[in-house]
Amino acid sequence: MTEPGGNESPEPATLRLFFALWPDEATRDALNRTGKWLHQHWGGRRMRAETVHITLAFLGETPSGRLDDLVACAENVGTDVYDLILDQAGYWRHNRIGWLGASETPPQHFDLVRALATGLQQAGFPVDARPHVPHVTLLRNSRGGEVPACTPVVWPIREFVLVQSDLDADGAHYEVIRRWELGRPPREA
Ligand code: ATP
Ligand code: MG
Repeated sequence: MTEPGGNESPEPATLRLFFALWPDEATRDALNRTGKWLHQHWGGRRMRAETVHITLAFLGETPSGRLDDLVACAENVGTDVYDLILDQAGYWRHNRIGWLGASETPPQHFDLVRALATGLQQAGFPVDARPHVPHVTLLRNSRGGEVPACTPVVWPIREFVLVQSDLDADGAHYEVIRRWELGRPPREA
């Protein structure tokens, strides 16, 4: 539909946003294979390959005028690159989610999550107080069951992203709207 005065839709007042790790193509393929495999064990609804991610910090509905403040928070994060080895299937009964996690999480991952949370808190954004459990959601409405041993997925973490989530009748649609490299030299003072 064309709006009077132009066909650009106006910027919405709020955006549903979260910071995340977004897989490169090889990692996405590997996660997708693991999703198919876990689905054979536990059933449920598989996540589409292009939507898999790890949430680092969930912001929820955010005034679009605060996007610059979010970008500033992210630019201050100067933590290091690392490899995340996802080698353990997990199941949460309360929300029927089947996921892939890590039996050992490198300290750099927690450094990244902490650096983001601290910056966001200082800038007045709401921060989830629950302890962070690194996980890739693979199945929804899953029955779970015995935990099968899985082939590890090695995910080279080289960047993090800001994602916009649009919820509609058929679920969430995600769009990566910004990216930041990890391990870059600190910004000049
Ligand atoms: P839907 O809500 O339609 O089931 P979704 O949960 O994938 O889809 P969002 O609710 O936009 O989409 O969430 C985006 C990401 O943030 C998901 O990885 C979700 O698990 C995570 N997330 C959502 N709410 C919170 C929260 N309160 N705290 C931490 N992470 C959250
Ligand atoms: Mg949700």
